[in-house]
Amino acid sequence: MWPRLWRPGDLIRSGDVNGPPIVSITCDDGPWPVNTQAMMNHMRNAGLEQHYGLIHFFMVANNALMFPDIAREVFERGYGIGNHSLTHATYNPTRLANEISPAQDVFASLFNWTPELFRSPGLTQGVVIQNECARLGMANVFTSTILNDFLAPRISSSQIINNVARTIHPGNIILLHEGGSHTQTVNALPGIIDVIHSRGYEIVRLEELLSAGTIQLMADVYIGIRSDVAIADAAELGGVDEFTDVVVELRTYLELSSNLSPERRAMVEARIAEALQARRA
Ligand SMILES: [Zn+2]
Repeated sequence: MWPRLWRPGDLIRSGDVNGPPIVSITCDDGPWPVNTQAMMNHMRNAGLEQHYGLIHFFMVANNALMFPDIAREVFERGYGIGNHSLTHATYNPTRLANEISPAQDVFASLFNWTPELFRSPGLTQGVVIQNECARLGMANVFTSTILNDFLAPRISSSQIINNVARTIHPGNIILLHEGGSHTQTVNALPGIIDVIHSRGYEIVRLEELLSAGTIQLMADVYIGIRSDVAIADAAELGGVDEFTDVVVELRTYLELSSNLSPERRAMVEARIAEALQARRA
């Protein structure tokens, strides 16, 4: 339906940041009782469900097995569905890579269809993950904006809406959570839709966002700032991993999270210093 600009094995950060004012909404960790249907109903109430659903749900395959009726409802209402691993229980790149294909089997059994897009739990990076995506003809979809709706204790709905407003940009892949205890995010969705529209942006399907202009890969972002940071926490991962750079990730996180508490900010800065120190040693 939409031309595909990504190649299997790509690690996608956003659509075209210099393109038209369009964004996509993605939602992780479901399907989940009450929340998943509430998200879809908010979209319907906003008049955004006529032709196809405008949220891409990255599902944990075991949750889809636990709540197959909700999973099928998402599929039948035409929303996008992505693979968010089998269990969501590991952030180890190798173990995570081994969960992609079994999750595809679950989706095939439920929908007689399989997703083309994966999202690593915890935005975990690793060459093994990208290689497995390549083998399966899939891309791994990250984001350029960390909205902090996953923090515990949860931030409020109005903080989530403010975070969307503050970070929105052309090609933005907005990453929300509905699987689990995410009432704040579910309740924020109508406000998020309003903010997106009032800023002059249109919500499009993720496949459409990734079909035009120049999509941005995580690697593109790293290249520009790579000279002053060594690649990877090699020791931690047992090898050099060109997709993983803890320092870059944490700096990006700080940059995008101006609402962090001083304690949390200090904690993240300490982690950056520690990683830099480990490289010098
Ligand atoms: Zn997740």
